[in-house]
Amino acid sequence: MGLDSFSGARSAEEVAELRGRANEAAALAFWFAIIGGLGGVVIALAVAALIARSILQPLSSLKSAALAVAKGDLEMRAPVSGPQELAQLGTSLNQMTESLLDASKRRELEEEREQAEEMFKTLANSSPIGIFVAQDGKFQFVNPQFQTYTGYSEDELLDTECLKLVLPEDRRTVRENAIKMLKGEGSSPYEYRVITKGGETIWIMEKVASIHYQGRIATLGYYMDISERKQAEEIIRHLAYHDELTGLPNRKLLKDRLDIALAQARRQQSKVAMMFLDLDGFKIINDTLGHVKGDQILQMVGARLMGVLREGDTVARMGGDEFALLFPAATETEEALRIADRVAKGFDRPFVVDGQEFNVTASIGVALYPDHAASAEGLIKSADMAMYRARDRGPGHSELFSPVLRGERTDRPVRESDLREALKRNDFVIHYQPQVDVRSGKVVGAEALVRWQHPVRGTIFPDDFIPLAEETGLILPLGEWVLRTACAQNKAWPEARAYPIRMAVNISPRQFRDPDLVRRVTEALNEAGLAPNRLMLEVTGHAVIQDIDVALATLEQLHVLGVEAALDDFGSGLSSLSRLQDLPVQALKIDRALLRDVVTSHEQAAIAAGAIAVAHKLGLRVIAEGVETQEQLAFLKEQGCDEYQGYLFSKPWPAKAFEWNFSSGRRRSVSV
Ligand code: C2E
Ligand code: MG
Ligand code: MG
Repeated sequence: MGLDSFSGARSAEEVAELRGRANEAAALAFWFAIIGGLGGVVIALAVAALIARSILQPLSSLKSAALAVAKGDLEMRAPVSGPQELAQLGTSLNQMTESLLDASKRRELEEEREQAEEMFKTLANSSPIGIFVAQDGKFQFVNPQFQTYTGYSEDELLDTECLKLVLPEDRRTVRENAIKMLKGEGSSPYEYRVITKGGETIWIMEKVASIHYQGRIATLGYYMDISERKQAEEIIRHLAYHDELTGLPNRKLLKDRLDIALAQARRQQSKVAMMFLDLDGFKIINDTLGHVKGDQILQMVGARLMGVLREGDTVARMGGDEFALLFPAATETEEALRIADRVAKGFDRPFVVDGQEFNVTASIGVALYPDHAASAEGLIKSADMAMYRARDRGPGHSELFSPVLRGERTDRPVRESDLREALKRNDFVIHYQPQVDVRSGKVVGAEALVRWQHPVRGTIFPDDFIPLAEETGLILPLGEWVLRTACAQNKAWPEARAYPIRMAVNISPRQFRDPDLVRRVTEALNEAGLAPNRLMLEVTGHAVIQDIDVALATLEQLHVLGVEAALDDFGSGLSSLSRLQDLPVQALKIDRALLRDVVTSHEQAAIAAGAIAVAHKLGLRVIAEGVETQEQLAFLKEQGCDEYQGYLFSKPWPAKAFEWNFSSGRRRSVSV
């Protein structure tokens, strides 16, 4: 249909028809439009649904993960799925969470570390012990006590080389210890000297450990000023071995040297000569001239005697106007007598004091090992006896020991075969000496002291046969017998006595070295049915220092067993306080040599008081032995000594007599 037909003259019907068709077309178009539109919507909805599934779900998971993380749940992880971008987003979110977790853990650790450091500092600041931390050999931390000890301030110490404080001679010790620690070999406390800011030298006991400090390996050190103890030891050592007035060795040093000389003579089958010398009428000189001049003469006598000696000989002042001379290399009696003559000749010239001449003579007693005695004690006694005899004969005499002088005592050397025989026949008895509580006066223990009842010679004292028993190893069966008998005796006593006491048994160096000692002790206790805490073993410093590591192990085992140990004869010879703090002993027995002159000599009193104080500081009980006078006991009481034994209270008694004397009701007590 053309336009002209439309625009031309058309009939009304045509127009109506045309209009109708146009309306139809319009309606169709409308429906088409409607249907087309609806289709689009449906498609759009389908597409949207698809998009929702692949994007919105991961997105929502991501969102919940992010929310959870935001709330602090650092264990939450986002899904790593969906379109690449979303998966990446998930990965990134997870990475972020991981690092947040790391940071939080670190913070926690950091807080813990800070707390620990805070605690360490609080402790360190109030510690009575010096504490430091060092890295690369330099101080990184020092507590106030450390500063007090060294005199340096924190500022002066931090970043300073630790070794700078150490006395040059001791730097090697410190360095070696540091290396040991770095190698992980551990470190035990060790001692060295430090120079303080004020230039003073102090003794330090240090123990170090390896720690982490501010993220790095560091050394933590505990630091204690032990100068006081060292000083006490030094004084004790010096005073203990020398005579203040003449500077000569004293009785103790003489005894040490005599022990060494005798051991050597036993090995070499040679002789040792001992001389005792007493100035004649010295008391009169002292009384008329006064102590000052008397002392000067004593000093001159000391010097003159020194002139007679050769290398290896010893002259000692035994106290008062008594001197002793030891000749370890004397070969024969004649030679000893020749030396005695030489000594006597030394007194031919007068002594000049303040321009005034004095003639002094000496009485000399001579004794020889092994001719006159088998032991150190015996030889000293023999020389002493010979000297008394010489004095009886008038001024300026010398006298060789003679068995006639021995009287009751049997100092003759004993033979190994005799000793073996005696063991077989059981010719030994034990005497018990009470150990008394100083404060209460109560008997708290007994020391078992063995005696040999010789069928012909009578009682032989341990000093005269223990050395031979040691040498021959016979001390092992003898010591075991003493141990068993003493344990059984102590078990038997409570029935007769009012209360149980502790039994002390002497253990000689040879016994102490015996690897079976602990077993033997255990067996003796079991056999007697005695509680371990009712036994105490007395060992000498000499036994302990022979092999300190073995000694420590043995003492430790005894301690575990519950048996106490006491260090015997302290102050008599080689004993020293230096390793005392390491020793698992519970008591210290102060020898009578140390107590002998406490009442008359300030130095001796200072030494004894020092020894008691140091022992107490180390937590040890102190037992004084050989207490003979009320004055000595009063001194011990004043010094806080715990227990004592000695003739003042009682001599050693056989078991029956001990029981009778010290059972309930008959207990003697000594008051001060
Ligand atoms: P120790 O263990 O130092 O014993 C103390 C010694 O001093 C004893 O001498 C004792 O009798 C004596 N004593 C006690 N009070 C006094 C006193 O007030 N003044 C004086 N001057 N002396 C006093 P003892 O019995 O002659 O023993 C000497 C040493 O023999 C003992 O010294 C000990 O080391 C050793 N010993 C004794 N018995 C045994 C034993 O069974 N086994 C071993 N291995 N050694 C023993
Ligand atoms: Mg003893
Ligand atoms: Mg003793």
